[in-house]
Amino acid sequence: MPKRVQAKFFQGEAMEYNIVIIGGGPRGTYCLRRLSLALAADPPENPVNIHVVEKSGRFGGGNVHNVDQPHYLLLNTVSCQITAFGDDDAPARAEESRRTLCGYLQEKGYDYGENDYPPRALHGEYLAECFNWMEDNLPQKVSLYRHAAEAVDIKTAEQGLQEVVLDNNEKICACEVILLTGHSRNRIVPGSREERYHQFAQKQQQKGGNISYVHLAYPIASQMEHIQADQSVYVIGMGLTATDVIRGLTHGRGGRFSSGRYIPSGNEPHIILGSRLGLPYCARGKNQKTGQYQARIFTSNLVHRLIQEKGKLDFRKDLFPLILQEMEYVYYSTLMGDEFGRKYLQYLDSAQRQDLVKREVKSTDRFNWQDLANPLWKLEAARKSGKPLFESMEHYTDFVLKQIGFDLSEAKKGNVGSPVKNAVDSVLRDLRDTLRSAVDHGRLTADSHRYMKKTFERTNNRVAVGPPIESVQELWILVRQGLVSFSGPSPEVHANEEKGVFQVSSPEVPGSIREVSHVVNGRIHGVDTRNDTSTLMQNLLKRKMVRTFTSSDHTGSFEMGGLDVTHDFQLVAADGSVHENICALGIPVEGKLWFNAADARPDVNSNAITQLAYWSRSAVERIHRREQSAKPGLSRTEGTEEQFVREET
Ligand SMILES: Cc1cc2nc3c(=O)[nH]c(=O)nc-3n(C[C@H](O)[C@H](O)[C@H](O)COP(=O)(O)OP(=O)(O)OC[C@H]3O[C@@H](n4cnc5c(N)ncnc54)[C@H](O)[C@@H]3O)c2cc1C
Repeated sequence: MPKRVQAKFFQGEAMEYNIVIIGGGPRGTYCLRRLSLALAADPPENPVNIHVVEKSGRFGGGNVHNVDQPHYLLLNTVSCQITAFGDDDAPARAEESRRTLCGYLQEKGYDYGENDYPPRALHGEYLAECFNWMEDNLPQKVSLYRHAAEAVDIKTAEQGLQEVVLDNNEKICACEVILLTGHSRNRIVPGSREERYHQFAQKQQQKGGNISYVHLAYPIASQMEHIQADQSVYVIGMGLTATDVIRGLTHGRGGRFSSGRYIPSGNEPHIILGSRLGLPYCARGKNQKTGQYQARIFTSNLVHRLIQEKGKLDFRKDLFPLILQEMEYVYYSTLMGDEFGRKYLQYLDSAQRQDLVKREVKSTDRFNWQDLANPLWKLEAARKSGKPLFESMEHYTDFVLKQIGFDLSEAKKGNVGSPVKNAVDSVLRDLRDTLRSAVDHGRLTADSHRYMKKTFERTNNRVAVGPPIESVQELWILVRQGLVSFSGPSPEVHANEEKGVFQVSSPEVPGSIREVSHVVNGRIHGVDTRNDTSTLMQNLLKRKMVRTFTSSDHTGSFEMGGLDVTHDFQLVAADGSVHENICALGIPVEGKLWFNAADARPDVNSNAITQLAYWSRSAVERIHRREQSAKPGLSRTEGTEEQFVREET
């Protein structure tokens, strides 16, 4: 018999309320606390049960920040910039060990400083302890239930309730549900390149070959286990996941770095990294900041005004020039000093600012977005028609090593000391919320939204969301010692049926053809609800309870992979109707909201927390309305969230 956690009813009035949080990873943890605070501030009359459903059973870190993963898998955020609590949460922040990950690590005696990048497993440990503390500090009449299970469906039940179905046969009848299900695992799309790799690998396996296509690199250790030392592996992508794969196949294989050299264990395969540009992600600048950069040009007030004036914004025309000028301002203030920065700001239009730069800055020292977006641009401009970009593998590898070397030297100067790292960190990272306010809820024209996702975001990720210096340094060493190499720009992967191996090459690099036994998709799966393998998502899609967000206007139509939600984060069904009591936040709504794959940061009013705080207050407000509708004579004042008044009758 299926177990049913039933909201108890008496003459139409709920005696207990069940609220379900699906996903007990970082966002599920933040949500538990915000819900507790909202319930404490405005308690319903009846008891509330919070149910957190987490399929990995690891409440706190969840799947990504799993406490059992190897410690060589690092965060790409420094420990002082990670928290589980909102800036307004004084009781939680009273202890340093809760206020930031850094405080936790220091209290536990781990040897990580505030600007170090600790293992993800330790972040998971911190979150698990925060989760426990949250459980110990629930308000009166609020209970927590942990369900180590997968939520597989949500069905509409009687009295406006939702029935959340778990894979262990439990059903929870809830008045409020929020999906915080995070990163997805997508199926291999029929007809795609990935399907060709997969089918070829399967065919070779049937013939007894150790050939594979790895569609998702996580969990790193088990997904890489079958790759043998005498084989070559081609990794698609040169970003954070590729960094994890490299660490898995070096540190994870028993090798170690010492005095600027890698000491191999002999168990490492040869790794070839490939991407469209053929260049790795840039290193994070050493952190020298305590606060966050405050905008001078690309301000939230200006964005707000633009939205008021124009309605929809064109990313290229309305936003990108402001982002660029803000980056230039930071870059030149760092390079030339504050006085130059002041002069730059005195000019109000871009042409005058460019004149100033031309007059006072050497041409070789000038900021150029193209240097970030496409470091190959000079080679491309000088290319003789029909010729590849590089003369040979040596020429190409030398170019990449020089790029890495330059990037490392800037990263070591720090995110305040280096003009370019300061510009990237201050604008692309610190002003992310301003950009979010311009993008979220379909504020961009469809065509420019597509451009932003497909073009700007690529550069943003490569230059502003890269790995720590340490990992890039290791990459440099591994390339020098011949354990890692690069594919060349615009790489192509072919199946060599005769030899039963994959073949990787670049049309831009003569002599770049190499045979590999394994192809690893070294990128996390993008949000793509239609192809998400989650049973829950597929059930919601099948019953038309959700739809993906499509931006449509006179410029065209752009379907994003994430779920459509209202301004209050309520799910929008296929027919456009709204599920008032089923909400979603974080990665599943990517597209409607921008850049959700990030953890909460302290002291910057982190949107990962404020969105959940808003949802929590709204959910509690809806519970009060439910309570009042069962009690004639009692009502809540409209427009305020905190008051509860008795009507004078
Ligand atoms: C490998 C990796 C490293 C990262 N490193 C960083 C970093 O250093 N810094 C940073 O800011 N960001 C990082 N990110 C971005 C990442 O988005 C955040 O760190 C964080 O994991 C987001 O938290 P979340 O709770 O929204 O999603 P997730 O961490 O994905 O958590 C969602 C949870 O929901 C559970 N779940 C999903 N579906 C169901 C279901 N149907 N039923 C029950 N449970 C379910 C999953 O098991 C999972 O634990 C990283 C991402 C990845 C993939």
